[in-house]
Amino acid sequence: MKLILATRNKGKIQEMKSILQDLHLDIHSCAHYPSLPKIVEDGKTFHENAIKKAEIVCKEVRFPVLADDSGLEIEALNGRPGVLSSRFAGPQCSDEDNIRKVLYLMQEVPNSRRQARFRCVIALAQPGATTRTVEGTCEGIISCEPRGTAGFGYDPLFIVPEYNRTFAELGEAVKNRISHRARALALAKKLLTETFENRSKKHHNR
Ligand code: IMP
Repeated sequence: MKLILATRNKGKIQEMKSILQDLHLDIHSCAHYPSLPKIVEDGKTFHENAIKKAEIVCKEVRFPVLADDSGLEIEALNGRPGVLSSRFAGPQCSDEDNIRKVLYLMQEVPNSRRQARFRCVIALAQPGATTRTVEGTCEGIISCEPRGTAGFGYDPLFIVPEYNRTFAELGEAVKNRISHRARALALAKKLLTETFENRSKKHHNR
């Protein structure tokens, strides 16, 4: 069975392939399809963006497609940066610019009100079937200064209370067990197993 990952991000491709490896699927990514259109992520929610990416790619490649969208929601900022996570400080900004902006906006926020969560939504689109989604979250606290060097994005600001360490201090091995993406991917794996089992049953009964 063929599955296409709607991303060109090498880190995501590697993480998704590694989690899905025991399903024995023939996994490709958008990197195999250079002529795919550039997708504008203009949805108001992670769900909208994930579904849009999965369905546009599925329409082009005519195979099942998995697409994800993720970001950070900070309670004291009313859920921002949310879907704007990657470009919170501006269209061409760096991870450091985003971190600086969050810390600036939260300088008056006391420790008791610094709750946040990472959210990841994964959509599975298939030719001729309704698109389905799954979601994973990871709860944390926004630190008052960046801590740690591993990871990317907002990792140096995101303290996981059970460990009292940021994602950037915890490193990849721990993060990949407890992260929003790991949780969403575990559910996506169940969805894929169900979907492909049903498909092969239908095929068998023809
Ligand atoms: P994407 O659109 O799912 O690739 O992610 C959007 C943005 O959310 C990223 O550019 C990061 O700023 C932020 N983000 C998503 N997941 C993580 C994470 O695991 N650690 C840190 N930042 C993240």
